Parts: sequence; structure tokens; C-alpha cells
Amino acid sequence: MNTVLPATAALPAGLTGPAGPEEEYEALLQFLYMAPIGLAQLRIDGEIVMINPLCGALLMPLSQDGGLSNLFHVLENVAPDLPHRVRAFKPLHGKVCDALHLQIDSGLPGRRDPQVLSLTLLKLDDERLMAVIDDVSVSVKRERDLRMSQAWIHTIVTGITDYALLALDRDGAIQSWNPGMRQVTGFEAEDAVGKPYSIIFPDDDRLRHRLAERLREADQSGWNLEEGWLRRANGEKYWGSCLIAPLHPPKNLAGDGVVDRGDDRAYSLIVRDISDHREANEALRRSVFSDHLTGLVNRRAFYESAALALERCSRSNLPLAVILFDADHFKVVNDTYGHAAGDAVLRHLAAGLSANFRSTDIVSRFGGEEFVVLMPSASEDDAVAMAQRMCQHVASNVLTVDGVAIGYTVSAGVVGMSKEIGSIDELLKRADAAMYMAKADGRNRVARWPAGTGN
Ligand code: GH3
Ligand code: MG
Ligand code: MG
Repeated sequence: MNTVLPATAALPAGLTGPAGPEEEYEALLQFLYMAPIGLAQLRIDGEIVMINPLCGALLMPLSQDGGLSNLFHVLENVAPDLPHRVRAFKPLHGKVCDALHLQIDSGLPGRRDPQVLSLTLLKLDDERLMAVIDDVSVSVKRERDLRMSQAWIHTIVTGITDYALLALDRDGAIQSWNPGMRQVTGFEAEDAVGKPYSIIFPDDDRLRHRLAERLREADQSGWNLEEGWLRRANGEKYWGSCLIAPLHPPKNLAGDGVVDRGDDRAYSLIVRDISDHREANEALRRSVFSDHLTGLVNRRAFYESAALALERCSRSNLPLAVILFDADHFKVVNDTYGHAAGDAVLRHLAAGLSANFRSTDIVSRFGGEEFVVLMPSASEDDAVAMAQRMCQHVASNVLTVDGVAIGYTVSAGVVGMSKEIGSIDELLKRADAAMYMAKADGRNRVARWPAGTGN
């Protein structure tokens, strides 16, 4: 470690002064030791040279072998693209990543919040990296709560003409509106009144079909806020936010405890054109929520979307299934064709998955060569059939890198949601166990949890 030490040559013999070099060094070590933030010095390949106790404590639960020798290995499952980020970072020194959020787990609904670590990686020179790690679980939760209250406050305090305010009846049919309705959506009163509020969505949008579902969500949680493409009366699309809030008292305040409250349900719908924010939001979303190498949804974004999907499916009594794909003998691919070719295989696999699953499925890169697909409304049988199709697709689509044909296969574990499964982590654990059965059975195949194979 480079530290500037004070010159002591002028001091009389036997006197090192109030802060001689050794004391300075001791003080620095003590500072590192006691620092209320995780610090580690690494070699450029991720090997840990020095680490303070807090950093060790934060990372230890992620260690797969009980040791902490290489940060890239320790974080392989939560930030598989880290080595790629370091390689892709060309300046001699600087921030490779800044406060990158690493989703460690999804927490336990109602009991423990999800754990999120923040990682800042500094390149010191060609050979050294410095990692700064902090537990930001509490602030991430606060930030999310704050976003919700900000949406409300913003609605109240800013120019009301930028917003279309609509009153909806219990079925989501438009009852009344403010002048902003015309300005934002282009609809005239006679076009809109009595029509379902879905007229503001593009025809092909799946949100149209979630009309009733969103009202129920607003009932359950007091509000429902979504951003997406909306449609003006002239057919033009624009990026907007839609906030639905019940006008009737929430269930627990109504005091009746009965789900169907008859005709007294009503909602307010607030629509806002946020096309200007979209680009900035998108860039931010991409950097926070997508995997650097493949562009797929990363582990953190997966957990966020999966929690919502799980909630929706259980509320609507719809099935839901998860497939975990893992590339077979991927180490051999790297060893035979090189790491860059390995990266190309991962991108190829990611593209194949994206192209073959529905847009409502969540396709994510979950770990190094592990991909998780969550399929809302799909049964376990649907997912097994889909996983088998993917295995065949991968096996028969050889990738060519620099003129060299690279064939590879994947194994998959499938699990369907059932009553005894209480969290995403439990669902994933079962998918993982099934995937290992597929590996043990010879690879390039599908297995389902708990018993029996898919092919
Ligand atoms: P199995 O069939 O049992 O899954 O064997 P495997 O070799 O695929 O599994 P193993 O877990 O032993 O090795 C996974 C390898 O994936 C090791 C790791 O270096 C590599 N890997 C992880 N992330 C990346 C990446 O981003 N790029 C490349 N090229 N390789 C990666
Ligand atoms: Mg593998
Ligand atoms: Mg693996």
C-alpha cells in the first residue's frame, strides 16, 4: 500500500516523534482494520491481497469454499460480469464500477428485507484493484419507499395540467376527468366516458389485459404505479406513468374484512407523459439492472421482477414455473477455445434464450454460466416442454467464433410453484437441485423437481 510517511531524519536519535513512520503505518493499519466500510486490495485478476474484517464478514456468506482468496470467485454468482468489466475498463486507473448494487438474497416476506451490498471497484494501476463494499440493504429499502411517496407528492404539488386525472368505477370504466385529460391523452370527453381505461394503452399491449388485475393490486397495496408505452387518441405512442389509487377505504380500514365490497369501489387514475425522462431513466436502468456481458436482466432485477410476478400469480391463482439453465462443461469451453470465446458462447446462449421465450417471461443471467427464466402463468409441464426445446435448440445451433465452430449444450432444472414454496429462494433451490439431477443424468437434458426426468 502506498502511504506518504513523514520524514524523521531530523529527529534526535531514539526519538521517533509523535507520529514516526511505524506509528503512522500502525495507525493506518488500525484505520483499515476499524473502518466502518469493507475494504480489500486485490490483484487485477481478483486475488485478495489485503482485506479488513468488515469486508470479510460481508463476503463470507458468499464464499463457496469457506475461504476468501479471490473476489471475482466469491462474487461469481452475484456479479458474474465483474471480470469482464475489469477487462473492458481501459483507462490506467479510475472507477471500474461505482456503487454497483449486488442482490444477495430476496429476504423473507414480512420478516427480513432483501440483502443488498454496494461495490465500488477502483483500478489503482495495471496490477492492483481496490474494492469498497458496504451493506446498503436498509438504504435500498428506504429508497424504494421514498420513490413511492415521491410519486404521490409530485402528483399533488406540480402543475396539475400535466396530469390527466380520471375517476374510474369499480370495473375500471372512465366516469369523469380533468382538463389535463385532453392535453395529455388527446381524448375528448365523449370518446372516453363509459369506456374502459384501457383505451389509453396501445392495442397490442399486454397491460390492456391486466386492467382488472391492476385495480386489485391497488386495492391490496393502496396504489399501483407502472411506466410504459401509452397511446394518444390519434394513435401516437408516448412513454407515460400511470398511478391508480383506490378512492374507497383500504380493506383493513373498512372494518368489514370482506373482499367484495359491492358497488362502492372507485379509483382515481393519474396519467402523466414522461417521454422526456425516458432516455435518462433507460440508461440508468440498463446500467443498474442489466448484465454487462449479455445485456440480459441481472440477478438484482430478476429478484425485483420475480417478487412481483410471484405475488401476481399467487393472487390470481395462476401457475408459475422456473427453469434454471447451466452450460455443460463450460470450463472445458474456456480451456479449449479461450475466455473470449467463452464470453461469446454466453452471449450466444443469452440471445437464444431471449429469442425463444415470451416477452412476459423473465430471462436473466443469474451467475457465471447460469441462466434463470421465470415463466408467469406457465405450468411445470409447459416449462419442461420449453426447456427441452431450448436444450435441442442450443445443441443444434453451433456457434462460430473466428472461423472455429463451437458446439455446446445446456442442462436444465424445472420447478413449478406450489403451496409449500414460500419464497423465490426456495423456488430457485429446487430448480438448482433439479438441474444437478440433469447433470448427474448425463447433461444436455431436463429434469424436474422433485423426481422423474423431463426427457
Ligand atoms: P458442469 O457441466 O458441471 O456445469 O461443468 P462446468 O464446467 O460448466 O461448471 P464449473 O462450475 O466447473 O465451471 C464454470 C465455469 O464458467 C468456470 C468459470 O471460469 C466460467 N465462467 C464463469 N463466468 C464466466 C464468464 O463471464 N465468462 C467466461 N468465459 N467464463 C465464465
Ligand atoms: Mg456449468
Ligand atoms: Mg454453474
